Amino acid sequence: MATDFDAVVIGSGVGGMCAAALLANAGRRVLLAEKRRYLGGRFSTVDHDGFKCATGGLAVPVGRDLEQVCEATGIHSGVKQSNRVGVWLDGEIYSLATGGTRGIIQQVAQNETEVAKVIGALHGAMTDQPAPEDLSFRDWLNQRTENPRIHGIFQATIASLLTVNSWELPAAQYFRLIKVIAPLRFGFIEGGSLELWKRMAQRVVQAGGEVWTAAPAEQIHTSAGRIRGVTLRRGQQTTEINAPVVLSNIGPAGTLELLSPGAVDPDYAAQIQRDMTPTAIMWLHFASDELLMDYSAISVGCSRRVNMIDVPSFEAEGVAPPGKHLYTVGAAPLDSLEPGDIKAEFDEVMKDLEDIFPDFSNRATVLTKTCYRGKWPGFRTLPHKHVGHGTPIANLYNVGDAACPSGYDGSMGAAKSARLAVAEILEQS
Ligand SMILES: Cc1cc2nc3c(=O)[nH]c(=O)nc-3n(C[C@H](O)[C@H](O)[C@H](O)COP(=O)(O)OP(=O)(O)OC[C@H]3O[C@@H](n4cnc5c(N)ncnc54)[C@H](O)[C@@H]3O)c2cc1C
Repeated sequence: MATDFDAVVIGSGVGGMCAAALLANAGRRVLLAEKRRYLGGRFSTVDHDGFKCATGGLAVPVGRDLEQVCEATGIHSGVKQSNRVGVWLDGEIYSLATGGTRGIIQQVAQNETEVAKVIGALHGAMTDQPAPEDLSFRDWLNQRTENPRIHGIFQATIASLLTVNSWELPAAQYFRLIKVIAPLRFGFIEGGSLELWKRMAQRVVQAGGEVWTAAPAEQIHTSAGRIRGVTLRRGQQTTEINAPVVLSNIGPAGTLELLSPGAVDPDYAAQIQRDMTPTAIMWLHFASDELLMDYSAISVGCSRRVNMIDVPSFEAEGVAPPGKHLYTVGAAPLDSLEPGDIKAEFDEVMKDLEDIFPDFSNRATVLTKTCYRGKWPGFRTLPHKHVGHGTPIANLYNVGDAACPSGYDGSMGAAKSARLAVAEILEQS
């Protein structure tokens, strides 16, 4: 068993997998060490009686950082774009195909004056009238309209994209993000997301590297402010791995826990502790025999908690048994940092599902219900608190959804952090 590698990647989430694939593609011998038994972290799939249920994210932003990594490495992304998308508001689904969000605002506004006021303010905030940093998006919109359906459109977008509610997000941050990501199209990976991670793992092995699952990293070793290697556990055995570069995908706070006390400046440690504020997402899978909606994804506004419903089986092959349909439901607790009574929160989700799909309990079977939070969160931190991929230790990088630049998030942000970190590593040697 080799114990010397060009780089160790700790964790096989989107950031870890992308970093390992990019390094392997550049000819580096990488050891990818994952604590769990499966690859992909919060963006994978587990089989539930033939249904490929997502362990977290599943909607890939089409053509963006994750697909760009696939393109750069020649690895098939398998992403099938969702073409039938809409917004559910008060019992009706409005298609995004005709005029996008603007088109829906026009349909739900009370009159042309309201349309002009809202569209004009949105345009202004993106150009010469930046929104204030200290005003929530909801309060910013309230200054233009109190129309609940227009608020519903934005609450649905914000909660489903950013895992926080419109009253918890600074308006300025919303517009910063929209500038980077819009226009955004999504797709699902055929056969389930795990298939993509298997292809990336294969690339690591082809380049002479190794992929270890059920192998938690226990320590990151440094000497004189530089990386020396890591200690990994496999079953009862620990192994010391020598490597001049380590990329940690376990969140900046997790990375700190693996360093010996005093390895980093106390100010940096305090900043990480302060800025890592994990958000919560309620996540539910259900299945049906009949197709309950003629869309592959809807965002949901004017609801109690639900903010999106994806139907990965609508267009992507191999994610549900033949003739069956698979749905994933995302919902935000009213307080996305302190979700409180999870059972009561899920009761509200179930009431929403009965509203959206009348007679839901007789037409659908719930497969899973999970609340992501704390160390296994929605996002590792709020969208305006990302810390970037660098660390005070030479050749130690964070990759993942808290390690991306401001304006990115989710799988796109995690892949972006990997691209930036690997570019820096390759530039140096
Ligand atoms: C319910 C839910 C729905 C979401 N929906 C979407 C979506 O549709 N689209 C989208 O773009 N984003 C979505 N997101 C966000 C997206 O899933 C995450 O931002 C992204 O997957 C985070 O990836 P990451 O690189 O930070 O790694 P993570 O997924 O956090 O993976 C980290 C990995 O490190 C491993 N690990 C931890 N400690 C150790 C250790 N000591 N040693 C070794 N390994 C270790 C973990 O087991 C894990 O596999 C969603 C998130 C959730 C939770």
